[in-house]
This record gives sequence, structure tokens and C-alpha cells, in this order.
Amino acid sequence: MEEVTRWYKDGLRFGCRQCGGCCGGAPGFVWVTNEEIGAMAKELGMSTATFTDAFVRLVRGRKKSLKEHANGDCVLLNPTTKRCMVYQSRPTQCRTWPFWESNLDRPSSWKRAAKGCKGCDNPEGKLYTLEEIEEERAKTF
Ligand code: SF4
Repeated sequence: MEEVTRWYKDGLRFGCRQCGGCCGGAPGFVWVTNEEIGAMAKELGMSTATFTDAFVRLVRGRKKSLKEHANGDCVLLNPTTKRCMVYQSRPTQCRTWPFWESNLDRPSSWKRAAKGCKGCDNPEGKLYTLEEIEEERAKTF
């Protein structure tokens, strides 16, 4: 198999500062699976049906995404504390941030992500090894 040398072969530092910045701003999608919906509902002590009615929308009639407030904030972001209300069971898309394909394709993409997320290149954050980054990257879609 062809070996690819990643620009981040020496690792990348990341430590979330829990500012909630990645959970709001410009409109977007947080894709969720039925399994993830069940886990989030459980964390909030709700039935899956009630959770789905309150927090999930259908996109193009088939894919499921979390709803947003009018200002672009995720509906599950506490507006006062700016903390995720389902942090323990947050979906894969949130769990794998910032090691998304779109942030890792080239150094400038990572720099762009770091402009909006003070957790990227946080000197106090954990140094993720190449292997750990690749593992997270592989889960993203
Ligand atoms: S923007 Fe970055 S530092 Fe802020 S909550 Fe999201 S991951 Fe954490």
C-alpha cells in the first residue's frame, strides 16, 4: 500500500476551552444517527420520540440533523453557560472535532479552523499523535 506522509505527522495540539464557538455561528448541520439520538435522549431523561420532536430535523426528507436556533447556535447548547447539554453522549461529528477531513487536508485548512476555535494549537492542550488523529479522521464524514 502506498504510504502517505501527512503534514501533521508530528502531531497536533488541541484542548477544548469550552467556549461553545464550534456549536454556533453560521448555519450548518450536525448529522445524527438513530443510535446517537437514543443516547442523547437518555442523557436528558427523555423518550426518543420527545427528543426527536424537540431537537431533530429532517434534511432533504431523509438525513437527520440537530435543530438550530435562529442565531445558528445548536439547539442543545445551553444559551447561558454555552455548554453542551448532552456532552457525554454528543454525536460523532462533535466528538471528532477538529480532526475533520476538511480541517486536515492542508495546513491552511487547520489554520482556518484554529481562527474560529481557540482549542486548536492550544499550548495547554493534549498533543494528539498522528495515529490518534488518523483514528478520529477516519470516523468523520
Ligand atoms: S470552538 Fe473550540 S475551544 Fe470552543 S468549544 Fe468548540 S472545540 Fe472547544
